[in-house]
Amino acid sequence: MTYMEEQQNNLIQSNANEPEFIQAATEVLQSLEPVIQKHSKYRESAILERLIEPDRQIKFRVTWTDDKGNIRINRGYRVQFNHAIGPYKGGLRFHPTVNFSIVKFLGFEQIFKNSLTGLPIGGGKGGSDFDPKGKSEREIMNFCQSFMTELYRHIGANTDVPAGDIGVGSREIGYLFGQYKRLCNQHTGVLTGKNLSYGGSLVRKESTGYGVLYFLDAMLKASGKSIEGKTFVISGSGNVAIYACQKAQEMGGKVVTMSDSSGWIYDPDGIELEVIKELKEVTQRRIADYKAYRPNAVYHEGTGIWNTPCDIALPCATQNELLLSDAKELVKNGVIAVSEGANMPCNLDAVHYFQSNKVLFSPGKASNAGGVAVSALEMAQNSIRYSWSFEKTDRKLNQIMKDIFEKVSNAAEEYGLPGNYVAGANIAGFIKVADAMLAQGLF
Ligand code: NDP
Repeated sequence: MTYMEEQQNNLIQSNANEPEFIQAATEVLQSLEPVIQKHSKYRESAILERLIEPDRQIKFRVTWTDDKGNIRINRGYRVQFNHAIGPYKGGLRFHPTVNFSIVKFLGFEQIFKNSLTGLPIGGGKGGSDFDPKGKSEREIMNFCQSFMTELYRHIGANTDVPAGDIGVGSREIGYLFGQYKRLCNQHTGVLTGKNLSYGGSLVRKESTGYGVLYFLDAMLKASGKSIEGKTFVISGSGNVAIYACQKAQEMGGKVVTMSDSSGWIYDPDGIELEVIKELKEVTQRRIADYKAYRPNAVYHEGTGIWNTPCDIALPCATQNELLLSDAKELVKNGVIAVSEGANMPCNLDAVHYFQSNKVLFSPGKASNAGGVAVSALEMAQNSIRYSWSFEKTDRKLNQIMKDIFEKVSNAAEEYGLPGNYVAGANIAGFIKVADAMLAQGLF
């Protein structure tokens, strides 16, 4: 058995009930084979073995009361995966599907993503199986306060800086931050994604979606193509999807679909984003209601969004939302590029299919890194107690995404895999973290 096969076996045996984590780590292990072969120092120092095991994983009970006075119990999680290059950094997800497998896959991806940004942030992730949908403001506040009453002892501006993710937006961050301050009596940058009035950064809201388009633009240009005039299929209608749609339209693309967990809409005239924002950001309604505003649009219940012909697909909802059968449909209909806005939205088979059919493909850890990049810029602004303008922050974001593309592309070239941005992202992200681990002695 080769060393890499041994790693793969260990991964599967030690994490048997964590399919999403195994999926994310398998992809990275596959990419790293040439790096491990070339540099024996990583093997000799057991870097892979250490990377795959989180520094620390915390699970706690969250007890809160609902509006009827009932006592409710949820599970809270924080995985502090790796802090070789900076404090742990990664979002909190509130969704009924959250468990250790989900949090570990997200935290693991975050190590490499954060490394690619070039900023000093380590990898972590957390959340709860609490579902904010259908809860009152008071219930959400009760939950967030109780969640932070345990989490606060594990985090800090120089230790671990959580942010939002699915189900955690600026409202939840506000309640979490308020409780942290109440407990610690410190107004520090312990969370990112804060409102502008108390330490948030301009462009944070837009950053992940905009970043996806800045990366896509660089990837297309490197192949002599452009966004102008292209038809986009975007899934999701949350934070990432909305601002990916906005930037795609600004850059001359036509977006014809968006979705939520109930179904998806097709608008042949192009998505009217103000309607989506009204439904999703203001009134918290279902995407099915879009049709009432745009009579030419068609609503489909359930899945099927990837059957829509397009040039570019941006999966921006959740993990494993685009499978091999979807990839085949997209390729059959002539897709030229797929950029992941969500984390691991395409399963491994779908990714391999895109690559073997010469579709330009960017993994989430590269193309959606704009969110955490601006989070790190929020930390920097908090440290110097200053705020940068929208234009300045957006310029920095754009440059960071172009730099990520260069790093990913160069790493792929260097290891004889030109155009394989999955391998490039894993290799470039890994080398920085691995070298920092080597420099700091055994931990
Ligand atoms: P939001 O909660 O704002 O939106 C999530 C969207 O995905 C909603 O439209 C939601 O529909 C849909 N969705 C969620 N779960 C499912 C599911 N199981 N099946 C189908 N649709 C689903 O989250 P974000 O936009 O912030 O995050 C989206 C993705 O991007 C996640 O993978 C996240 O980890 C990733 N990401 C987010 C970053 C950020 O800055 N926000 C940064 C980097 C990555 P519904 O409303 O019906 O639940």
